[in-house]
Amino acid sequence: MSQKQSHGIVIVAAGRGERAGASVEGPKQYRTIGGRAVIAHTLETFLNWPGSGPIVAVIHPDDEALFALATAGLAGRERLLVVHGGVTRQESVLNGLKALAPLGASHAWIQDAVRPFVDEALLERISDALEAGAEGVLPVMAVTDTLKRGSGDGLVLETVPRAGLYSAQTPQAFSFAAIFEAHRQAAESGRSDFTDDASIAEWAGIPVRLVEGTPDNVKLTVKRDIAMADEKLSPVLPDVRTGNGYDVHQLEAGDGVTLCGIFIPHDQKLKGHSDADVALHALTDALLATCGAGDIGDHFPPSDMQWKGAPSRIFLEHAARIVRDHGGTIMNADISLIAEAPKIGPHRQAMREKLAEILDISLDRCSVKATTNEKIGFVGRREGIAAIATASVVYGRKQP
Ligand code: MG
Repeated sequence: MSQKQSHGIVIVAAGRGERAGASVEGPKQYRTIGGRAVIAHTLETFLNWPGSGPIVAVIHPDDEALFALATAGLAGRERLLVVHGGVTRQESVLNGLKALAPLGASHAWIQDAVRPFVDEALLERISDALEAGAEGVLPVMAVTDTLKRGSGDGLVLETVPRAGLYSAQTPQAFSFAAIFEAHRQAAESGRSDFTDDASIAEWAGIPVRLVEGTPDNVKLTVKRDIAMADEKLSPVLPDVRTGNGYDVHQLEAGDGVTLCGIFIPHDQKLKGHSDADVALHALTDALLATCGAGDIGDHFPPSDMQWKGAPSRIFLEHAARIVRDHGGTIMNADISLIAEAPKIGPHRQAMREKLAEILDISLDRCSVKATTNEKIGFVGRREGIAAIATASVVYGRKQP
């Protein structure tokens, strides 16, 4: 076809949406998904598509205010022609076609307002089919579920072969004159039970070409569909949290210190109720901090005799369990030790491996660093060892 085509668009938005609980929250085409009304998403795609000619929105007479509100911020809104729908979808489409009639469109496209995920690629496929001479074009998806016919009493009667079966989407596009005539004839002959326009075309003998639809181009029908569409369009912020911890233990004469779960022979030992592993204590606090679970003293009171001499990995394992119970995934753990002696460097790798083992995360997520305190302060005088820890945790599940 060499003649320039003009695509008149009818957006059908007059439904009451009973199945989505309209009585409480209003018709579903005006529900908000991703911060805007469903119909605004649908209209925007057509307003932005260079192929669109005149666009008619067919709305319910009661929805004037809702429509005005829904389209208030829409670029190109002034291009929209608004007409009232009828009692049935079929009647509403006919009203839309009547509004298009004087505007000289070569083709009529009919689109459900409640298919907000229609995209330009689909519009182009349909347009190409019209360009190639099709009188009617229907976007479809091949049925992939196994189909069953059921009996009235809830039993399977038979399996229906699904080869050659498709589910119909919109927009459906037709030669304007042909579909307008088919609609008028259907109305005249008292037929009002057609659920889409391809059915009317079929009834009227208009050949309808199938083109591939888009999996995302779903019709929002029930309440759950609206919630899922909203989720899909709403940006999800990753729930990344960071906690820090600090601990100090005093040094006294002894035979060695335990740091990051590794015993290092030394002429001093750390004083404390448990094995006094400052590094693991600081990291325990850091992990607990990521889910507001208090600190190590809340979970393991120093007054409780059962923790006397206990290996501090118990505390860290406990904190990691709390984090995971809250839906957290530990991303990394970083410990800085501040000590004049013993030398930490030779033990760093063993310490990191110990952290990886206790936390059950990979080695590259575990870091141990050490510094002296330049011989100043209590650390510099070898009166104690300090540790600072940072942990990052990503929380996946919603908190109760
Ligand atoms: Mg401590």
